[in-house]
Amino acid sequence: MNEKVKDIKNKFESDLKNVKNTKELNELRVEYLGKKGYIQKLNPLIKDLSNEEKKEFGKSLNDIKNFISKELEELKMKLDKKELEEKLVSEKIDTSLPATKFSKGSIHPLTKVRREIEEIFISMGYDVVEGPEVEFDLYNFEKLNLPKNHPARDMQDTFYVNDEVLLRTHTSPVQVRTLEKSEGDIRIICPGKTYRRDSDDPTHSHQFTQVEGLVVSKDVSLSHLKGTLEEFAKKMFGDSVKVRFRPNYFPFTEPSIEVDISCFKCKGEGCSFCSKTGFIEILGAGMVHPNVLKMSGYDPEVYRGFAFGMGIERVAMIRHEINDIRDFYTNDIRFLNQFNRKGGLEDEA
Ligand SMILES: [Zn+2]
Repeated sequence: MNEKVKDIKNKFESDLKNVKNTKELNELRVEYLGKKGYIQKLNPLIKDLSNEEKKEFGKSLNDIKNFISKELEELKMKLDKKELEEKLVSEKIDTSLPATKFSKGSIHPLTKVRREIEEIFISMGYDVVEGPEVEFDLYNFEKLNLPKNHPARDMQDTFYVNDEVLLRTHTSPVQVRTLEKSEGDIRIICPGKTYRRDSDDPTHSHQFTQVEGLVVSKDVSLSHLKGTLEEFAKKMFGDSVKVRFRPNYFPFTEPSIEVDISCFKCKGEGCSFCSKTGFIEILGAGMVHPNVLKMSGYDPEVYRGFAFGMGIERVAMIRHEINDIRDFYTNDIRFLNQFNRKGGLEDEA
């Protein structure tokens, strides 16, 4: 009987040598130790043996089972280790390979210019104030000396939510809101989005951005306005830039002026950029109309104010020689990337 056990042992040892992986090892375990394995098959033989032989045969069965289990366990550990090492090698990441290029975003040119304008005025002691884009007709028009049916409303047609609520056509309503809340001196700029019912073309957009400024005090005059705008123009366009005032009409200022800066490309000589005039139109301004002050609780006999407003797109277009306002909104990466480079607007982000 022990011969049968010996045969199994020999066969197992030779089978074990051929095992190459854990899958084959598990198959071998089932083949020998499983319910229908070689060892189980020897069990029925036991009933035909004498008591003495039963004892001996039982012991040799136990021994072979332990032997096979131990051998399988040892090989399993070796195979596990080997397979882990193979896996580590095959899944290794080659860190010396060039990385996938990650394209970096940048601050939008309009945001950059708006921040620059803000910085310039903050350095002159101005506060930055914001207000709602969906605005009451009262603040957008009426309290700016533009009563209902005033012909100048035609210059600023907009999108109406209802008869009293509209998308603001300028950031001036923020000035009115500030006047209403304040007593005494005011020195603010109001940047933000504005809307007009214009057809989009290279110089018009139904949505654009403005910065307006308002200074109210007992002794401000046009010369303060001129000095302020000269300072702004020099910081924005260069030290050689001069400011020119031309008379204009706005319902909310009196007198009203159109402000030009001398062409920073030809220094006022006249070139194609300034249409040979030597000057570039940059913004509108004026002394705050007494009616506007009065409607918001300021006594125009005591207080005076000046205000100015400019399109951020216009400033950016002049500064960077951009021909089409729509380029700002189409988010063409090729356009936006130009402002990422040195020589464009310097990074401040
Ligand atoms: Zn010029």
